[in-house]
Amino acid sequence: MRSKAAWRPKKTNPIESRVDSDAHANGWSARNQQFLSYFLSRFGQRRAVPVTSLLIATSAGVGIGALVNQAVSEAPITVRLALSMVSGVAGLALVRRKLAFDHAQHSAAIALAGGLLHANRDCLKVLSKDGKMLRVSEHGAVLMEAESPEQLAGADWLEFWTGEDRTAAEKALADALSGSSSSFTGSCATTKGRTKWWNSTLTPVRGENGAVDALLCASEDVTQQSELLKTLRERDELMHEMELHVRLVFYSYSSHFERCHHVSAGVESVFGITPEELSNRPSAWLDLVVPEDREPVLAEMNRIASEVAEGRFEYRIRRPDGCLRWIRSTAYPVRDGAANVVRIVGVSEDVTLEQERLAALDHLAYTDGLTGLANRSALIRHMKTLCRQNVAFGLMFVDLDRFKVLNDTLGHTAADRLLQDVAKAIQGALRPDSCVARLGGDEFAVIVRGDSDRASLARLAQSLLNLFSSDAKDLAAPFVTASIGISIFPEHGCEHEALLTSADIAMYAAKKGGRNGFRFADEASSDVLGDFELERNLPTALASDQFILHFQGIHEPASLAVKGVEALVRWNHPARGLVGPGSFIPILEESGFIVEVGAWVMDAALAQLAVWQAAGKKELSMSVNVSACQLRDDSLVAIVDQALRKHRVPPRCLQIELTESALMQNPTLAQATLMALKRLGVRIAIDDFGTGYSSLRYLADFSPDIVKIDRSFTARLGRDAAAASIVRGIIQMSHELGIKVTAEGVETNQQLHALRDAGCDYVQGYLLTKPMNAENLVHCENSVPLSAAGAASYRAY
Ligand code: C2E
Ligand code: MG
Ligand code: MG
Repeated sequence: MRSKAAWRPKKTNPIESRVDSDAHANGWSARNQQFLSYFLSRFGQRRAVPVTSLLIATSAGVGIGALVNQAVSEAPITVRLALSMVSGVAGLALVRRKLAFDHAQHSAAIALAGGLLHANRDCLKVLSKDGKMLRVSEHGAVLMEAESPEQLAGADWLEFWTGEDRTAAEKALADALSGSSSSFTGSCATTKGRTKWWNSTLTPVRGENGAVDALLCASEDVTQQSELLKTLRERDELMHEMELHVRLVFYSYSSHFERCHHVSAGVESVFGITPEELSNRPSAWLDLVVPEDREPVLAEMNRIASEVAEGRFEYRIRRPDGCLRWIRSTAYPVRDGAANVVRIVGVSEDVTLEQERLAALDHLAYTDGLTGLANRSALIRHMKTLCRQNVAFGLMFVDLDRFKVLNDTLGHTAADRLLQDVAKAIQGALRPDSCVARLGGDEFAVIVRGDSDRASLARLAQSLLNLFSSDAKDLAAPFVTASIGISIFPEHGCEHEALLTSADIAMYAAKKGGRNGFRFADEASSDVLGDFELERNLPTALASDQFILHFQGIHEPASLAVKGVEALVRWNHPARGLVGPGSFIPILEESGFIVEVGAWVMDAALAQLAVWQAAGKKELSMSVNVSACQLRDDSLVAIVDQALRKHRVPPRCLQIELTESALMQNPTLAQATLMALKRLGVRIAIDDFGTGYSSLRYLADFSPDIVKIDRSFTARLGRDAAAASIVRGIIQMSHELGIKVTAEGVETNQQLHALRDAGCDYVQGYLLTKPMNAENLVHCENSVPLSAAGAASYRAY
């Protein structure tokens, strides 16, 4: 047990203090008086008079009797005795009664004090006037964590108050000493150094003369409440800070959103309205929601309230300052123990930035970079929506005719500008609710919403075609035309894929039908469908080795000896068998695939030539057809050079056949490429001569090695005198320019003789050899035998 002197209160960290001047302590209330009277009367009467009181009363009685005896000393002895006895007994009785009453009151007071002390849960102390603790209640010692009340007796009460609350304690003590009761709240440490919070009241205890003799100090231990209060306050401050600084709106509404219990300060910056406005009018925020979003918001609120389910909704508001903002709100119903919804709490936040970023991403993902139109994905998304909603619409595929040629002749920059102009022109010609997309290259698509009427779609398609007519001066290229394919939902399909395919086929049919026109999906004939299918299969044909070469002999007219062969490509289609070049070369040209396929033809033809040359036909030449598109491609010269080197074929044995029209598409470029090929040592032939521009002037410009008279002229030989003289003229003129002449399509002996007579250098036609594979060519009766060993399949290459 610590000695009184050794123990001293520890320092505390005061948190809060308060001193109350206690007005009510100035007097007991009437009710307290009544309570005391009742207590004294109820418990005072029962008290037995102790022996000392009896002795005092007896002495008092004897004294009174003696006094009476003396006072009646004149009377006879019997009277005096009697009077003395009576007065003595009466005095005894009176004094005893008085003493019994006083004693009872005293006992009752002690019982009351004991009861109060026992019942009191405060730390009660009696302080001397100099502030020493004279007595401490039993429970008080427990609260102060002392081992006994005695441990605290004699300690200076003020010394407990070492922190900020000391002033309050000093003031309360001074007040009490001056006669008025005083209270304050503050913290001080227990004997074990633990800080506790107390509500202390100091009451003066006055002596008989009314002066303050001592002080009664009752301290209620409010540590738990204080700590709870502190935690709550801290939490409240934290919440307040968060609500103030985070740009979120925390809210609590009644179960059907009719009352606003709480809304955080953030509502002012997010919604532009104050929490007060919301508590006065809980639906004030709804007035800000833009009209289009209001209905879905109300529906979601109803759902949350009726289903008692969480909810999340996004909507736009027009803030009082005019700003349009995107808001995302979440709401969670909160239930009580009986599962009743007591409130709906949630958070609202401004997600405008996020929405703007999403919109930018969306724009990137669904917009065509060149024209700013919707792209393929956007078109498909739009179509899917319309199909789902069962809204009638027409889909138009608009494809510019011969755009690749335009692209090459105009240059990429001008071609891009042309596409932008076309985009603008199409958009300008349509209703605002129509969707225009660029699917890639020169392909555009138009969705005409709510229209499935063929006549009006036809009118619209024609008006689009008219945009491209020569009157449309805005376009960068004056001679642009387009072909349009139209499919209709639901007539031509209920799914976007079916509609896209039918519009594509219809567009293809329009092209096939002469371009610069439009077709509906059901107007595409079966051969167009076939072509279309071929087009779809083409990209994989090369990789799957589906192309093969046939060869046709080129003969010397007199001896009919084979001087050369022409390589003619065929497509060995898995379903259709051999497909002639007329069916797929235009598609290859249109798609640009011809460059790859042409490279393969060059390689395979020279590989076969190398085989034949190795077998002894050293001077045999190989003719390879090259289309306009290949001629425009930068890689042609390199491809030819590479194939020649690879197969070690003398360049003079390679003859490249180009049609007049291919040369005329870009004469300057063609001439440059021809020169480069000539520098390689390759010979150039002008194919199908006489069908195109037929300008003999170009013969000089391009200075070819050979011209191949088109078979349409050969066919007229012997029937048509004019044709014969044209043929003779071409031969003569060519010879004058040092150019050799081959006649194509020789089918009859008459034609052969006429050509021989006209001095034609070479002849080619079914009469002599039909195009066939290398092996058959070797065995062909009409051909000069090629070594059987040399007829190895070109497929090996
Ligand atoms: P072309 O270069 O004028 O080829 C001659 C065409 O006439 C061949 O048709 C051939 O089979 C056909 N022919 C030959 N003799 C006769 C005959 O006596 N009578 C008739 N009626 N026709 C005859 P094919 O093989 O269908 O080729 C057509 C065109 O396809 C070729 O015309 C050529 O321009 C092109 N072509 C063929 N192979 C290739 C190739 O590998 N690349 C390119 N770019 N075009 C090719
Ligand atoms: Mg040819
Ligand atoms: Mg030809």
